[in-house]
Amino acid sequence: MPIQLTRPIYWNVEFSGIDFLIMGIGLLLLAAIVYGLYHRFQMWRVIGQADIRWDHPWERIKGVVRSVFGQRRMIEHIYAGQMHTLILVGFILLFIGTTLVAIERDIGQGVLGHQPTWFFHGTFYIVFSFILDAAGVMVIVGCLMALYRRFVEKPGYLYGITGFGKWTVLLLVVCLSGFVVEGARISHSAFVIDSGTVREADPVLEKWASPVGYTISKMISSAPGRELSFHWMAWWGHALLSFFIIGAFGYSILRHPFTGLMGIFFKRPGSTGTLAPIPNLEEAESFGVTTVDQFSWKTLFDSDTCVSCGRCEIHCPASQTGKPLSPKRIMQSIRKVWQPAAEQTLQGQQISEYPMLVGNSITEDELWSCTTCGACMRQCPLQIEHIPAIVDLRRALVMMESRFPSEAR
Ligand code: SF4
Ligand code: SF4
Repeated sequence: MPIQLTRPIYWNVEFSGIDFLIMGIGLLLLAAIVYGLYHRFQMWRVIGQADIRWDHPWERIKGVVRSVFGQRRMIEHIYAGQMHTLILVGFILLFIGTTLVAIERDIGQGVLGHQPTWFFHGTFYIVFSFILDAAGVMVIVGCLMALYRRFVEKPGYLYGITGFGKWTVLLLVVCLSGFVVEGARISHSAFVIDSGTVREADPVLEKWASPVGYTISKMISSAPGRELSFHWMAWWGHALLSFFIIGAFGYSILRHPFTGLMGIFFKRPGSTGTLAPIPNLEEAESFGVTTVDQFSWKTLFDSDTCVSCGRCEIHCPASQTGKPLSPKRIMQSIRKVWQPAAEQTLQGQQISEYPMLVGNSITEDELWSCTTCGACMRQCPLQIEHIPAIVDLRRALVMMESRFPSEAR
């Protein structure tokens, strides 16, 4: 049998119990993400009004699938679309790759007893390594594009985003450190299966399987022994940073891929801007929304999901003609009011009175400037529902306080 390229998983960092340690950390991180998302769910629920958004689940799931695979709204904006696609596809490939490595190690080698490898060798290994190198490059290019836009190009509509720069830099560093780990390993040697055992081989064998790692290996000192300690430090640095970033998915702006999918699932069926009828119109004593606690939980969720990309604003005819309205700012204003209130409520504090939204965070002129054209909702990549929020606020002005736009008086 000809020699076949491979690499020992946990090479140079292996110790008895490393499988349990990594598996335990993985489970803890999963629990942390679930808890983070659950806490966020509690925040929307504790302040917002009930609103059934899980009827017709199959239709909703189909909508999510169409949005994920169509990515039409994202691709319409070429730069942002390319940037997001590179990062998203890159991370999906890296996630699949990491899962395959875990299957090889824990099931193939651990449970089924395949030695020295199960499928992690030969053509599979070469294609696998090449694809993961490409995936790492995709994420790095996507992150650099994001940083360029945010810190060099600085378009005016990208205001009000906190944390994106920091997380983008961390994603960039984790991918770069992955390549450093790979380069440090290759600078020591490649590995092949020869006569049923793994042995070291000329690093040049990795040239086409791991082109980026191979290139980096040329820059790393090949002083005997030094590359081992360098690789060990780089591996643990990369692992710890990866754990930190994965855990942060439940607690930071990084959760937007999850909440974005949830938002698409929960959106109101029907055409853009379909409004909820006023329930019990004949007997109701109040109409519309004056304070955040009167909004549906979905509006609070939407304001929380907004990533401040500004796309709604650049397509809003009111914003673009100098009217005092930005659908993005409306979402941000709602978020600023309900988030601290939800935290306080979850900590057991009573909120005696919520501040009126109109007149404090949002002006009447902003609300009357909206033509309900729906451009914001059609353009929002997260399918956030601006019009129902604006109309809820207007209903309270008109039906509770008889306030109208000056043109209607
Ligand atoms: S509402 Fe949507 S389009 Fe507008 S800034 Fe937020 S995420 Fe972007
Ligand atoms: S519906 Fe209102 S907020 Fe949205 S784009 Fe049209 S005018 Fe702007």
